[in-house]
Parts: sequence; structure tokens; C-alpha cells
Amino acid sequence: MEYDVIIVGGGPGGYTAALYAARAGLSALVLEMLGPGGQMATTNNIENYPGFDEPVDGFDLAQKMQNGAHRAGARTAYEEVTGLELAASPKLVHTRKNTYRAKAVILAMGASPRQLGLPEEDALRGRGVTYCATCDGMMYRGKVVAVNGGGNSAAEDALVLAKICEKVYIIHRRDTLRADRAYLAPLEKAGNVEFVWNSRVAGLEYGDKLTGVTLEDVKTGQRRSLPVEGLFIAIGRKPETALVEGQVALTPGGYVDAGEDTRTSLPGVFAVGDIREKPLRQIVTAAADGAVAAKMAQEYVAGMA
Ligand code: NAP
Repeated sequence: MEYDVIIVGGGPGGYTAALYAARAGLSALVLEMLGPGGQMATTNNIENYPGFDEPVDGFDLAQKMQNGAHRAGARTAYEEVTGLELAASPKLVHTRKNTYRAKAVILAMGASPRQLGLPEEDALRGRGVTYCATCDGMMYRGKVVAVNGGGNSAAEDALVLAKICEKVYIIHRRDTLRADRAYLAPLEKAGNVEFVWNSRVAGLEYGDKLTGVTLEDVKTGQRRSLPVEGLFIAIGRKPETALVEGQVALTPGGYVDAGEDTRTSLPGVFAVGDIREKPLRQIVTAAADGAVAAKMAQEYVAGMA
């Protein structure tokens, strides 16, 4: 089975790529392991994707994106991709059931937030534990929250939350931020941001919802409780690059090295959404990548014909 373009991953980047590729007259197949939507499908209320006057359920939005791509002529196969031969011509995409051939491949496998690994972390997700201030911040309006991490994401999250929440603690395991120095002045100026240095989150305190965190001083081992209603974990993301390692260039942070034109280091291979190095990982930026990648794939396929 040969397609003009195969898209690996059915999140917003993948289905937007499929929509635009199909509308451009390319045969397009999305290979998705579970269901459409990726991380988006697990978000109840999406309030920052334009075009909806009420919050939209991520699962519903994913279905709509898939329906739109299918209406345009793209197909989906629910098959786990087990291997990619991206330098081959045509490119080969292996799943557990089939080997597909493609002139162009769009990588849309996404990234997942790194977790602290605490036993109650998954159970409290959406009930006080979150990994995205831009997505969930408004749910904590007027409340006391903490951000865990010391990188640019943690600093940005704290700045977003400082405008919404009563108080924001930044819990970091060292005594200086890894984040760019440019973040320091605005964080200090916010007036409601307090740094908790040399500390790690050793436990989550909760009833029905999160009520606080147990902090451990990494130097003395001393523990104390910090009451918060929200914990925003910002300790980095893990891009899903296992299938492409050694085939396309990755950044030092482990993301696929592709610019705004979504081109990777291999001709005919494009990367969209959270798997790509980029300053803001959101549904809207993933969707924008998908449109660009489809255009690039169209040009690449036309050049090959
Ligand atoms: P990051 O730069 O890797 O920082 C992760 C932070 O979490 C570090 O401070 C790290 O501590 C801490 N950490 C890691 N594992 C931990 C653990 N198990 N427990 C407690 N703390 C832990 O990740 P990021 O902030 O998500 O940024 C990822 C990339 O995106 C970076 O390249 C960043 O520059 C970029 N980014 C850019 C922008 C922007 O330009 N506007 C915004 C956001 C992100 P240590 O410092 O001790 O290692």
C-alpha cells in the first residue's frame, strides 16, 4: 500500500496535516495507535482553541478534526507504528500488521509531560495536579498554587499564574533557576511569587482534591507541608522520538530539529506539533504546523513526480 503522505500520530498536528494534504489532492493516511486527539483527547475543557464560544471537550474536538480530515479524503488506520525507514525511497512505515510505502512522512507523535513519579500523581491529575498552566490556569483563579521546576516552562507558568492566582510558589530543587535570566525581574516584580529553593516535592496531600504538597529540603532532608490547591508540574517534556532516533537530527533537548517550515534533516520528512522544537506547545500551534507540513509535503511530492 503506497500513499503520497503518511502521518504518524493522530493529534491536532497530524489531523490538520491530513486535512490539508487531502485537500491538496494527496493520498494521505494517518497511523494512530489509540484514538484521535493525542494529549488533547484527555483534556476536558479546552478554552484556548479559537472559534468556540464555550469551552470544548478535547475528545469531541479530536473527533471533529478527524471527521474533517476524513471528509476531505484522508484515511486513518489504527495500527501501532513499530519501525520507520525514512531514508528509503519510497519511505517505509512498518506497523504490527502491515508495511506501508510513502513518498513523504509527517512525524506527529507528540510529547508527554515528565512526571514526578509520585504514587498519587495520576489519580490527582485534573484535581489539583496539572502539567499546563496555559490550559488549566483559569481553574485556579484566586487560589494559592505551586509550580515545580526551574526551567523556562516553570518560569513562564509562574508568570501566567501570577496574573490569575493569589499566590504562586516556585519549588525548585536547586538554589538558582535554570530559566533564562530575563524571567527573573518579572517574577520578582509580580509581587505574589515566592521561591522555595533546594526543595523537592516528596508527597501530595489530598482529600477529594489536592490540599498541599510535602516538601523535602534536599540538603537537610527536613520535611514540611505547604498548603496549595494546585500543583503545576513543569519539569520538562519527553518527546516521542524513539522511532526516529538516528534517522533525523534531534536538538540537545531531544526534540526533532525542524524549524517553522517543519522540514527535518531528511528530505521528505516533516515534523509537527509537540515533537518539534518550538517555543509554545499548544493545540493551535500544532494545527498550524500541520498545515505548513502538508504544503511542504505537497511540494516535495510534486518534485519527485
Ligand atoms: P527544562 O529546561 O529541561 O527544565 C526542567 C526543570 O525541571 C529544570 O529546572 C530541572 O531542574 C527540573 N527538573 C527536572 N526533573 C526534575 C525532577 N524529577 N524533580 C524536580 N525538578 C526536576 O524543561 P522546560 O522548562 O520544560 O523547557 C524545555 C525546553 O523548552 C527548554 O529548551 C526551554 O528553553 C524551552 N522553552 C523555551 C521557552 C521560551 O523560550 N519562551 C519557554 C518554555 C520552554 P535542574 O535545573 O536542577 O536540572
